[in-house]
Formats: sequence, structure tokens, C-alpha cells
Amino acid sequence: MPVAELKTTTLKQFVSGRWVEGRGDREILSLNPADTNEIIAVFKGADRQDALAALDAAERAWPAWKKTPAPKRGRIVQRALEIARSRVDELARLLTREEGKILGEARGEVDKGMNLMEWYAGEGMRLMGQTAPSELPSNFLYTVREPLGVVSIITPWNFPWAIPCWKIAPALVGGNAVIFKPASLVPAMAVELVKIFEEAGLPPGVLNLVLGSGSSVGDALVRDPRIRAVSFTGSNEIGSGVHKTAGERGIKVTCEMGGKNPCIIWDDADLNLALGGVVKGAFGSTGQRCTATSRLVLHEKIASRFKEMVLAEAKKIKLGNGLDPEVGMGPLVDSRQLETVMNYIEIGKKEGARLLLGGGKPQGAAYQNGYFVEPTVFGGVISSMRIFQEEIFGPVLTLTTVKTFEEAVATANGVRFGLTSAVYTQDLTLAMRFVEDLQVGMVHVNSPTIGGEAQMPFGGIKASGVGEREMAKEGINFFTEPKTVFLDYTGVRRESNVY
Ligand code: NAP
Repeated sequence: MPVAELKTTTLKQFVSGRWVEGRGDREILSLNPADTNEIIAVFKGADRQDALAALDAAERAWPAWKKTPAPKRGRIVQRALEIARSRVDELARLLTREEGKILGEARGEVDKGMNLMEWYAGEGMRLMGQTAPSELPSNFLYTVREPLGVVSIITPWNFPWAIPCWKIAPALVGGNAVIFKPASLVPAMAVELVKIFEEAGLPPGVLNLVLGSGSSVGDALVRDPRIRAVSFTGSNEIGSGVHKTAGERGIKVTCEMGGKNPCIIWDDADLNLALGGVVKGAFGSTGQRCTATSRLVLHEKIASRFKEMVLAEAKKIKLGNGLDPEVGMGPLVDSRQLETVMNYIEIGKKEGARLLLGGGKPQGAAYQNGYFVEPTVFGGVISSMRIFQEEIFGPVLTLTTVKTFEEAVATANGVRFGLTSAVYTQDLTLAMRFVEDLQVGMVHVNSPTIGGEAQMPFGGIKASGVGEREMAKEGINFFTEPKTVFLDYTGVRRESNVY
């Protein structure tokens, strides 16, 4: 590990263009989940006063930012992208050390965030309204998109770079002043992102960073009457409260939440192709993706063969520190997450599911200071089981066998979530029937449940998401409102009563 990486960084809050210490009395540590002896960063947490100071700063900065032409706002995001691009390797290494995912995945995440910046930088030139013919002569009807004001961005730990990028970039290009509250487990990545925007020339107060607990500062950033919109990604437990509070205040709110994503493997599927997608989808990022493949729905004709293929492949995954190029799966993010996953494994066993692989913590010196759990596969899983219904958020895959198309659809749809899904088949007609009948926000045909692209909307239905989709045009639509203008240029009093 390079010497510079061994140093513990002291982090600060970013308010009104200045780096300041949090006023909270608690010192918070960011630890490497692969080796908790490594302290990545330390910081004094923010309290409600810090959140209010950030709000004051954002409120002061907003009017001038709103008047800054959208293409200029986009150019600052473009500069941020260029700075990020010059630092990709360093950012990816920090991401691996702070969150735990392997370096290749961290690199992929940094790239994804940059794609989002690229898309939204261009949106500065495409922040278009519409025109329509009027009922009246010499009248011009048009819309412009206007910013909302001061907005809160509250993000989870599992994508500490890409998710903040896909929210902050459209919020800024749309002309809003932002308060960014990242998950407490990943403050160092948040600081790097904000530093990049600072270096890119963002005026003071337009982007503020508050590092502190969700229950105090997060809550303040939803309740304060000056907040005009909240963009939240995280658990259903917290998200439903955020949605309720913001909804009661009548402000815009989007909550992207959990998933329990099915992957259907049909009897005509290319099983080698499907195998790659399933292993990546289920065990990539240690299963800590909202889009992770957590339920495998297998056609009975290939169920036994494909199960053996998955077990053989999953057995090969090497666990360890994600900086090691040999490692295929990193740790879970913290002790709480490890406890949750281990609890679910016990629940699965008690429910009568067959533990086919894993289910324990790996043994050995390399693992003793990290939050490691083995890739785990349960067979014989039925829809009434909790391990079928609930989001585990770890490398735990369930197997359910079906006989018919109808049974596959009912199995896939039989949970409260509806984020993403995958279908492996070589029959285009069948694929399209699945596309039509799956109750989800996203369907992948012959590719894993994971992933998205900047230019396409991302998000789920049912318990997986409420509010506007993210990414693409939808992302910037959330952070702006249309204003409709009726411009009468006749200059004479009109007798008509068309109004
Ligand atoms: P979480 O516990 O809900 O936390 C998310 C964010 O909310 C964190 O910044 C947290 O701060 C903050 N928070 C906590 N309590 C709050 C409150 N009362 N008011 C306002 N904010 C509050 O979720 P997580 O464990 O970080 O993330 C994992 C979850 O995110 C999973 O369920 C996953 O499926 C979901 N996710 C969904 C998507 C998607 O696009 N659908 C993408 C990624 C992840 P602290 O960290 O300080 O507690």
C-alpha cells in the first residue's frame, strides 16, 4: 500500500466555501472494512447547528447561482469531471479502502459517476422548455425550466461516489443550491467529491457538505422549511420516514430504496452466459447493491445443472482486501451489516431452506480484522420464506425452481420490491413476454440485474422507489420545475373571451 494511504486524514465540513470543524461532541472514525486497524479518516460530526449554518449558506448563494446561465453551470460540472478523470486511480483506491468493494468495481463506480457528470454537464445546454401554438393570434406560449431552491441530497454508503454524482450534478446544473449529507460510513469519498467541485470553481455556498448522523442532521435537512426538495437513496426503513415528512411539507421528494431482484434462467438460456451474469450480480460488491441478484428463478429442466455451475463458480471466489488483484469479493461494510447477514443465514436455515454453499465467516489471519462472509447459496427456497422476501444486502443467493412462464412471473413478482430483474433466454418472444409482465423499474435481457447508464432512467416501483426516476432527463426534471409563459404581443385590448 502506498505510504500516503497509511495516513489517517482529518475531515471537515464544507460550509459557505470554507472547511470547518463540526460542532458535534462525537469524534467519528471511518475504518477500512477489510482491516479495521486501518483508520481512513477521523472527523468531528456535525450537529443541527452545522446543518442550519449550511442551510443559511445555501440560501445566500442560491439567487446568484440561479441567475448563472445553465451552460455556465454545466461547464463547472464539466471541469469537475476533468479533475476527477485526472485522479481516477487514486479515487478508486480510496473507495476500496473506505467501502470495501474490490478495486475493479471501485474503478467501475468512479467511471459511472464520471459518465453521469458528463451527461449532466451537457444538460446545461439542453435545459429546454417547450413551445405550443396558442388559441389566440399573436400569442406565444412557452415553458422554461427553473430551479427549486435549496435542496438536500442524502446518500447511502454502498455507492459513495456514483450516487452523489448522479444527484449533485443535475441539482447544480438545474440551478439549485445543495446540502449534501453522505452516509456516515463513507465520509472520505464525500470530501473528495466536494473538493473536486470546489476546485472546479463552484461559488461558495452552492454546494455544502454536512458530515453527521442521519437521525440529527439528516432529519434537519428534511424538516427545515427552507428545503425545497429532498433526493434520498437508502433503506426502506429510513426512506419511508423521509418521504412522509417531506410529503407533509408538500415539497418534491424522491426516495430510491431497497431491492430483492430476481434473475430468471429459462430452459433454452445460454447457461455459460447466464452463469457470468448471476455470479457478478449476486456476489459482486459483496451483494451490497440495491440491484444485486438475490433470487434465482430456475426453469426445472436446467435447475439442477445450473445450480451445480453456480456452486462451482462461487466456490472459486477469493475473499480478501479489495486492493489485492487476486481477490474477487471484499468484506461487508461494517459490523452491523455483518450481523444482519449472519442473522438472515440463520433465519434461512431455520425456515427449512437448504444451505448449499457458504453461510459462515471465513477463517484465517487475513480475515480476522475484517467483516468477511462467504458467498452463500440457499436451495429449495419458497416464496413464504423471509430470505425470499426481505432485502439481505449481502452475498446470499436463493434458488427457486419453476415449471411454467406463469409460475416464473408470479415468483419474480411475489415480493414487495420492484427495482430490477434479469431474464436469460434465447427466445425473443418469451423475453418480451417477461419484459411486459415483470413488475419492476428495470429489466435486463441476457445481462445481469446490476448496472445502469447515465442516459437512461434508473429506479424502481412498488417498495423500491417513490418519486421521479434518477439519471437521464428524469434526473434534471426532478431538480427543476417548468414555468409556463403566456406572452401576448398584440398590444391591443382583446374582446375575445377565450381566456
Ligand atoms: P440508510 O441507513 O437508510 O441510510 C441512508 C442515508 O440516510 C444515510 O446518509 C443516513 O445517514 C441517512 N439517514 C439515516 N437516518 C435518517 C433520518 N432520520 N433522516 C434523514 N436521513 C437519515 O441506508 P444505507 O444502509 O446507507 O444504504 C443501504 C440501502 O440503500 C439498501 O436498502 C439499498 O437497497 C439502498 N439503496 C438503494 C438504491 C436505489 O437506487 N434504489 C441504491 C443504493 C442503495 P447515516 O449514515 O448517518 O445513518
